[in-house]
Amino acid sequence: MIKIPTRILVVDDEKDFVEMLSLRLKETGEKVTSVYSGKECLETLDGKKDVDDIDVVILDIKMPGMDGIETLREIKKRFPLVEVIILTGHGATESAVEGMKLGAFDYLLKPADFKDLSAKLEAARKRRDEHKERIRMAEARFLLRKVGEI
Ligand SMILES: [Mg+2]
Repeated sequence: MIKIPTRILVVDDEKDFVEMLSLRLKETGEKVTSVYSGKECLETLDGKKDVDDIDVVILDIKMPGMDGIETLREIKKRFPLVEVIILTGHGATESAVEGMKLGAFDYLLKPADFKDLSAKLEAARKRRDEHKERIRMAEARFLLRKVGEI
C-alpha cells in the first residue's frame, strides 16, 4: 500500500533536537518542515496557500519569545483544523494539560519516544482526515439541497 505522507511542522528552539527528529520522520516517509520559534511557526502556517498543507504541528512548550502555549492559542484561533502535539519536559506537565484544554490533540514528554510519537501522529492525522471528510460531506449535502431548491 502506498503511504500518503503526513505533512508535519516541527517547532522547537533546540536545533539539534529538531534536526534529529526531522530526519527520523523523513526516514519514515513523512513530509517535514522545521522551524525554531513560535513566530516562525505562525509565519509558515500563514504563508501556505492552503493551510491544508500542514496536517500536524509538533510544538515545543518551552521556547524563548513566544512560548508554546501562546503559539498554540494563535494556531487554534487562526488554523483550527491543524492538529497540534505538544512537547514538554518533565516538571512541566501542567502546561501539557493546559495545552490540551486549549485544543492540542495530545502531548509527549521529552525526550520523546519515537514509537509513541509515531502513534500519536497517526492518530492526529486520522482525526484531521475524518474532520475534513465530514466538512466535505456537509458541503456536498448543502450543495445538493440548493440544487434541489432551484
Ligand atoms: Mg525548548
